[in-house]
Amino acid sequence: MATTSKKAAPGAAAKAPRRAAAKAAPKTSQKAMPKAAANAAPDEEAGQEGAAGEASATEAIYLSLLYAIMEHRLLAGTKLVEERLCEVTGASRARIRQVFARLAHEKLVTLVPNRGAFVSSPTVDEAREVFQARRVVEPALAAELAQRATPAKVRSLRRHAMEEDNARARGDRAAMIRLSGEFHILLAEMAGNAILEKLIREMVSLTCLIITLYDRPGAPACAEHEHRQLIDAIEQRDAARASALMAEHLEHIEGSLDLSMPDSGAPDFYSIFSKG
Ligand SMILES: [Zn+2]
Repeated sequence: MATTSKKAAPGAAAKAPRRAAAKAAPKTSQKAMPKAAANAAPDEEAGQEGAAGEASATEAIYLSLLYAIMEHRLLAGTKLVEERLCEVTGASRARIRQVFARLAHEKLVTLVPNRGAFVSSPTVDEAREVFQARRVVEPALAAELAQRATPAKVRSLRRHAMEEDNARARGDRAAMIRLSGEFHILLAEMAGNAILEKLIREMVSLTCLIITLYDRPGAPACAEHEHRQLIDAIEQRDAARASALMAEHLEHIEGSLDLSMPDSGAPDFYSIFSKG
């Protein structure tokens, strides 16, 4: 997560919704994403396909926006223009609003009365809360998974780590950011608790957003060797080590962020003019 700027750049990202919505959900790592994405149909076909088709078309729009946020193609603070999304996706306003409502429920989008929908800008306090929650949940999930590891699960984790390596090798930062988040979703999925899995999905997406706001240039959020060490511990069914490694890994991610900034958008003139 190296070079994103700290401030949201609504101007620069103004055209991103068109690009994001037009692009189909990537084929990689669908195992970590909801299954409906694979069969998503455009709106025109939805009428013929009935409720299932409509649901999957809504899901496809949701996933396009989710991926765009996770991959930093849509930055915090960007306005999501309803009309433009209708135009690009062929979906009705009602459907776009439905997607916004879901993203707002997941705290990724903020709905402002009379102004519209914006990609959320989590505060420093919210960022700390997300990591605090992740530190509570994910080490326990890693331990749980270590206890129920199977060769098939370990193979699947290693395949995912390989995808991360490939993205890194071809310098595809967007995919790297998304895949490193999806590694955590995959772990949660395999640990077999649907409620915690849903929670992790939401926290991972929020973390991607937090990284766009607070990362220090040059600091990678998920070091690949840490994912591999985790997989090794899971393969060895060493629950205590898996738990400890996950706790350390999350500390490293949080440590790579600059959460020392004041929350207020007002400039701190005292520190600007202070010579001491
Ligand atoms: Zn990670």
